[in-house]
Amino acid sequence: MRRAYIGIVLTVVIGVVAAGSGHALGGGYLIRNAALVLTMDPSLGDRSVLGQLENADVLMVDDKIADVGVNLPKPSGTSVIDGRGMIVMPGFVDTHEHTMQSIIRGCAADDNVVGWLSRCTAGIRAAVPTESEIYAAARLHTVGLIDTGVTTVVDWIGRFQTPVYRGDVRALVDSKLRFAVAVFGFAADGSDLAATVNLVKQEFIDQNPLATLQIASSPNPATAAHVATATQLALAQGLKLHVHLLENIADLASNQLQVLQNNGAFALGRDLHVAHFVHASDADIATIAGLNASVAHNPLSNMRLASGIMRYLEIQNAGIRLGLGLDGGTNDTTDMFNNMRVAVGLQRAKSLNALGTPTIVEVLRAATLGGAEVLDMESQIGSLTPGKQADVIVIDPRALNFAPSVALVNQLITNGQPQNVKYVFVAGKPLKSNGNLVGVNVGTVIKDAQAAADRIAPFLVP
Ligand SMILES: [Zn+2]
Repeated sequence: MRRAYIGIVLTVVIGVVAAGSGHALGGGYLIRNAALVLTMDPSLGDRSVLGQLENADVLMVDDKIADVGVNLPKPSGTSVIDGRGMIVMPGFVDTHEHTMQSIIRGCAADDNVVGWLSRCTAGIRAAVPTESEIYAAARLHTVGLIDTGVTTVVDWIGRFQTPVYRGDVRALVDSKLRFAVAVFGFAADGSDLAATVNLVKQEFIDQNPLATLQIASSPNPATAAHVATATQLALAQGLKLHVHLLENIADLASNQLQVLQNNGAFALGRDLHVAHFVHASDADIATIAGLNASVAHNPLSNMRLASGIMRYLEIQNAGIRLGLGLDGGTNDTTDMFNNMRVAVGLQRAKSLNALGTPTIVEVLRAATLGGAEVLDMESQIGSLTPGKQADVIVIDPRALNFAPSVALVNQLITNGQPQNVKYVFVAGKPLKSNGNLVGVNVGTVIKDAQAAADRIAPFLVP
């Protein structure tokens, strides 16, 4: 008994040492005897949506999932993580973010999105932030995303000069997360968009296998020129156009879908990436479904900013690809568990139906494989399918906020918090190991973000 215990301790220590150094000892990690593995691949395990296995192993070799099963042989040189009692699943895909907005957390908490934009995000712009200030803000946010188990993030960067782009994207690169960056440029008419896209592409994207590019816009009658330019660029470069759509009830007056259509954006089809879509009519849902466009659902943000409750059931029933997003500072947190809980809870409160859409299983899918589908990356990420990228998280339910383990799948939504996430792997590399953020000095991250927030604070109307 004592001997077995020592063996376990040594195994864990070796795993941590390997993780701490940023790479495996001999190439790979074997998560052994996990209480529950949610592969999110219906061809695996119990063949359900969750593709569930009990007391099972997950093997990662290099940057890929090599195998999932019971009693997998351990290749030599592989580090072992004791998975007993733990839940293993794909990392979360955050389909709509503004990482720099961590700098305005708590701002205008008594206002809707229109007031929040003018009192808070406009303040960031007015402060003319430096590259290092935005780096500090985005750094704080990306570290928080890793902490909660996000492994892929889509960062929508609004109307800012290039130092802001450099600071923000540099933080994304340094995070070692998988990411897409959506670029708006600075000119309201989109006249500098191509140049900004090229700059970001050449400095940060081309040499980073974890990075992809999108074009950003926000359709309304005043931004038609930007939408037209952004659409042309997205079409020419085969990129997604990522837009805010029908977030607040005030957006109904802007004929946003009409602006998209009039400026050619419907030609993008499945490369139209829509955030929010709260105030969609039946006709709007049919239009987006007909285009094969995708939707990023941001329930925590929509709740915080009194935006409304997205028509989840109707959008899902229309066959629209649907993922979850945390939407930057508009929900003030990077907690994806909170976001999933709210996605389920708001719909229940609205429908008075505890079995309503999304169910717990559906929201887990939206947060993983659904998000991958929104990005058209489901062949690479979103499930623990052998051959896919090893974007994996390990959750330990044996904690005050989560124990006892009664119904683990349900408890991910009812009890889960970032502190329960023990390991986060992106492309087989540990970003969080045994509960610790790898290579991150959290004190420094907070101190730098605080200094940037303090400098910008006079420009906000809190
Ligand atoms: Zn947004």
